[in-house]
Amino acid sequence: MNTLHRDTDLVLSAEGVTRSFDGFKAINDLNFYLGEGELRTVIGPNGAGKSTFMDLITGRTRPDKGTITFHENDGHDIDLTKLPEYKVNRLGIARKFQTPSVYAQHTVFDNLLLSLDRPRGVFQGLFYKMTPEDKEAIEEILETIRLTDRQHELAGFLSHGQKQWLEIGMLLAQKPRILLVDEPAAGMSDEETERTGELLLSLEGKHSIIVVEHDMEFIRQIARRVTVLHQGHVLKEGSFDHVSKDPEVISVYLGRQKHD
Ligand code: ADP
Ligand code: MG
Repeated sequence: MNTLHRDTDLVLSAEGVTRSFDGFKAINDLNFYLGEGELRTVIGPNGAGKSTFMDLITGRTRPDKGTITFHENDGHDIDLTKLPEYKVNRLGIARKFQTPSVYAQHTVFDNLLLSLDRPRGVFQGLFYKMTPEDKEAIEEILETIRLTDRQHELAGFLSHGQKQWLEIGMLLAQKPRILLVDEPAAGMSDEETERTGELLLSLEGKHSIIVVEHDMEFIRQIARRVTVLHQGHVLKEGSFDHVSKDPEVISVYLGRQKHD
């Protein structure tokens, strides 16, 4: 198994993971492997266990059974299920929740400055002397999230979609190895959704990314390898065409979506 990891340059492996809530298996014998620099989309009906899976990776909740292993660059394997949430985050695993949380009273630029991977708190940050490297890093992120022309505005004035991009930018400022993004397109206009897809595609290869989504058009736009989760288990995995034409996927997910 270890040889397999090394050959394929995995960054994350989950094996035999089960998590029950009051006897109900939200995650049921889940096996999942994420490659270095991969952009993976995870789809599945409501209640399939997508968010719970993210909770398990980030140490927010613990599995009853199974292992979740983070493969460090230097070849070390770390069992994430033994670590508190902040330590998982410190390893370079960043999670974007559905609701954007930005510092509304600060400018877009300062939000990114405050998020840079530096040993200091929010208030210290404001008096911190920015280095040329910091400035460059922030400018690069602003380009990536396409907020360069809004950088001096207060974050509170951004649209919902722009706040989401800023929050992704704030996570990028921590230079994460793994980025977990839960339903980024929720509540966005079609144009914002498409831009979000472009943003995530531009991160491919630089970070390993798991995107959980419902919106099939959005998935189609960004799909590489798609994992279909159903009842806490991987039902199918493959290309968008492969999974979206699969009769089982159609019956549990696509067919059902029409009635949701
Ligand atoms: P998804 O994100 O795919 O919609 P979730 O992971 O949120 O699904 O939920 C999977 C199942 O686990 C659901 O039935 C949900 O009610 C249940 N669940 C998730 N978290 C908890 C919890 N903390 N306590 C009890 N049940 C939970
Ligand atoms: Mg969810």
